[in-house]
Amino acid sequence: MNTVTNQWKAVDIFTQIRDHEQVVFCNDKNTGLKAIIAIHDTTLGPALGGCRMYPYATVEDALFDVLRLSKGMTYKCLAADVDFGGGKAVIIGDPHKDKTPELFRAFGQFVESLNGRFYTGTDMGTTPDDFVHAMKETNCIVGVPEEYGGSGDSSVPTALGVIYGIQATNKVIWGSDELHGKTYAIQGLGKVGRKVAERLLKEGADLYVCDIHPTAIEAIVSYAKKLGANVKVVQGTEIYRTDADIFVPCAFGNVVNDNTIHVLKVKAIVGSANNQLLDVRHGQLLKEKGILYAPDYIVNAGGLIQVADELYGLNKERVLQKTKAIYSTLLHIYSRAEADHITTIEAANRFCEERLQQRSRRNDFFTHRKQPKWDIRR
Ligand code: NAD
Repeated sequence: MNTVTNQWKAVDIFTQIRDHEQVVFCNDKNTGLKAIIAIHDTTLGPALGGCRMYPYATVEDALFDVLRLSKGMTYKCLAADVDFGGGKAVIIGDPHKDKTPELFRAFGQFVESLNGRFYTGTDMGTTPDDFVHAMKETNCIVGVPEEYGGSGDSSVPTALGVIYGIQATNKVIWGSDELHGKTYAIQGLGKVGRKVAERLLKEGADLYVCDIHPTAIEAIVSYAKKLGANVKVVQGTEIYRTDADIFVPCAFGNVVNDNTIHVLKVKAIVGSANNQLLDVRHGQLLKEKGILYAPDYIVNAGGLIQVADELYGLNKERVLQKTKAIYSTLLHIYSRAEADHITTIEAANRFCEERLQQRSRRNDFFTHRKQPKWDIRR
């Protein structure tokens, strides 16, 4: 009976990972590392995606997160037009308590075991310095500090991409891409959210902000004070109920769901958080409510653009130009959604899926040249 039950569980796992090429569970007894690496698709090249550290309540939560995030990376690579595939890693643990150099070295060993199929670096809960330890075990690490030969903090171009996304959205809604004269509600003031907040304050915008860490709040409040700018701090779920013009999620995913949609009063959502929609149907609900949604993986691709460029041979000007292109890509997605009477996330997904088909044909062309169908040894 047990054997039958276990077989069903195994089948269920394969159902869950049916879209993915490979999922690796990493368990290191010495350091306590528990991590999952998910490789979604390597049609265009090796998988590339950050490593998140979060105290997931269950392994299922961690698996759900890494599967969605890695699939999102395939789409993000396509949208940003870099020749990499989608992958992601999650470490199950509290980033404020559980980090050790040994833990990241153990993680680096698991990445190395994939033999170049997966390149990784920072994401939510991890910093470039964490990966200085991991890179002692593998070359497949990107985005370490410049003094270690990396391209540096990837949240800098990510935040810039969010700003371009906000500008494109302002252009569509208000006819001008100026940032000032609007109020933005920013959820999460970490590596990306803080930089976005600072830029918006410098431009003369008003902000509502929230974060679970008082130090993150204090930093932005004192920055605003120096500029004489206007920041209102709100607690927890109050961020969804503000009268801001744009909601800027920069903390965690699934923030657009059945509970939040009916309280949101904003005109648009543009932020860095991955997987902002709990489900694609929430894109439709936003459309019906007249809230313009900037697909997350289009807007937050700046960091990916930088780390991909690091693997080609870093050129900061090229990174800047490709990040700038987020503005025009987003305008294209908005106009396609309108023309085809579909949601913006559907328009973005179609754009990427068509690109994958085109690129796959290109890759097939080279594969066929290298391995002709006819076999001369026959
Ligand atoms: P981070 O860990 O530096 O910052 C996240 C911030 O959110 C922290 O300050 C944290 O305290 C706060 N937070 C956590 N739970 C919260 C809650 N319930 N309410 C309010 N605030 C909360 O992460 P980051 O690198 O700034 O990334 C932010 C988001 O953007 C993540 O979803 C990440 O996946 C995504 N993203 C980041 C990058 C990048 O380059 N760093 C690139 C693409 C996407």
